[in-house]
Amino acid sequence: MDVLFASPIGTMKQSINIVWLKRDLRLQDHLPFASAEEDPTCDYLAIYLFEPSLLSAPDNSVRHQRFVYQSLMEINRKLSRYQRSVQIYHGEALQVFNHLSHTYAINAVYSYQESGTQLTWDRDMAVAKSFNTQQIKWIEYQRDGVIRGIKNRSQWDAQWQQAMTSPQITPSYTQSKIAISDTNNPFALEAEYLQLLSTTDDNKQYGGTDYGWKYLRSFMEERGKSYARSLSKPLQSRTSCSRISPYLAWGNLSLRQVYQYVAAHDNRKAYGRNATGLLTRLHWHCHFIQKFEVECAYETHCINRGYESLSYANDPTLITAWENGMTGLPLVDACMRCLHQTGWVNFRMRAMLVSVFCHHLDCDWRHGVYHLARLFLDYEPGIHYPQWQMQAGTTGVNTIRMYNPIKQSYDHDPEGFFIKEWVPELRDVPTQFVHEPWKMTALDRQFAGVTIDYPDPIVDVTQAARYAREKLWGHRENTAVISENRRILKTHVRPNSRKRRNLKSTS
Ligand SMILES: Cc1cc2nc3c(=O)[nH]c(=O)nc-3n(C[C@H](O)[C@H](O)[C@H](O)COP(=O)(O)OP(=O)(O)OC[C@H]3O[C@@H](n4cnc5c(N)ncnc54)[C@H](O)[C@@H]3O)c2cc1C
Repeated sequence: MDVLFASPIGTMKQSINIVWLKRDLRLQDHLPFASAEEDPTCDYLAIYLFEPSLLSAPDNSVRHQRFVYQSLMEINRKLSRYQRSVQIYHGEALQVFNHLSHTYAINAVYSYQESGTQLTWDRDMAVAKSFNTQQIKWIEYQRDGVIRGIKNRSQWDAQWQQAMTSPQITPSYTQSKIAISDTNNPFALEAEYLQLLSTTDDNKQYGGTDYGWKYLRSFMEERGKSYARSLSKPLQSRTSCSRISPYLAWGNLSLRQVYQYVAAHDNRKAYGRNATGLLTRLHWHCHFIQKFEVECAYETHCINRGYESLSYANDPTLITAWENGMTGLPLVDACMRCLHQTGWVNFRMRAMLVSVFCHHLDCDWRHGVYHLARLFLDYEPGIHYPQWQMQAGTTGVNTIRMYNPIKQSYDHDPEGFFIKEWVPELRDVPTQFVHEPWKMTALDRQFAGVTIDYPDPIVDVTQAARYAREKLWGHRENTAVISENRRILKTHVRPNSRKRRNLKSTS
């Protein structure tokens, strides 16, 4: 039954609910859609907002927006048989909701909670306040087993398991009863912006749930057979890793859908540690987002505040060289250039890029964190910032790892295939020199018949690592670091974990 209300200017407003899509761009296992479909009092409008304040934030990039747009187009194709579509607005949330309030009597807004940055958190606070004054109910559901408002992790693992194993939500879609008129929409996508969003790029994964399932299926059917073995290899991991990260980050797939699919798959047993490894990583995914949900200041502040007093050189020339893949360290440059083109490298290479940035180039993590956020197609704030800080050594509670980019190169790209693919300047260099081309003497070059138009390393890796190690290792005993460690372990780590037991034995 649709309820009509009198609007201030005398016309009757249709009463509606709204499904506000954020990082949950799918139609199945979707509680906001299911709830809106089940409300007998009024129909609903699904909306997505391209918010200028978020688009201009330093972590945002066009590749993310395109992925989102592709996902929305797929949803709209599927919804068209119900005469429904997601209405897309290019405007700030408050403005768009005010605009919608002029046309409709909004009863309730359904969405998932967003464990995002300070910007999205502040936006949500302002929206909640506005809804409150307009008596609009905002029903926000827990996303992917991440729990709002918890003070510690005592029950978290069990609750996460329960969320992953509980039945999926299957909305029953019905024909829309809402007449949508876009003639008076000040927030419609402008032609130029639409053109930008609709441009496709064959080097990057395409957005949408169907693609997400394709990647996951092919992983469990074939590609994942060498997952554990090839996880660290920059080249082989491109096909042996699941590659579902952008689909999880933008919610084309829910964590529960993936978890249940992998756990019940016929190949689960035959896959052994390949399948177990994937399930473990799904848990990590949520574990990191849970940290960020509790404290989104980790985007801009050291997780362990004791590390705020560490100083860095922050040489802008080195930062630019790292950003552009021109450090003279072949594997580092190959990874960075590959990211520019494709938006994805494997975990180890991401960790190495951060390690080189913070340790060898002696730069504060905050000067590099947004660059990679913009490049990663799977940018997920809840994973990105805590992972950066782990690799930067500013959490205090994790072992500090320094990845030697030359050793990584010999170990994980021994033939230099990945390097040669992304650093064409080194294509003709003999394999024995591809990891350290600067070691090729003029005579070596003459014998091999190559000229190398590639920079020498911008730092001495051994010396830089020694300096960084002394600086970081020395700081571990700082009193502020030690007292912060206690706070962090109590908030983010299970009570019975080894780290917590160590804490007790030293207190
Ligand atoms: C500095 C740094 C920044 C990162 N930023 C992001 C990010 O913004 N978004 C993102 O999704 N991942 C991030 N990761 C984690 C990891 O590198 C990617 O999840 C993984 O490479 C994605 O590829 P995949 O889907 O093939 O992973 P698979 O190995 O197939 O794993 C499946 C899924 O498990 C999750 N996962 C895997 N590894 C991790 C991990 N170490 N921590 C948390 N979750 C994990 C991801 O959701 C991933 O899609 C980051 C890692 C580092 C070191």
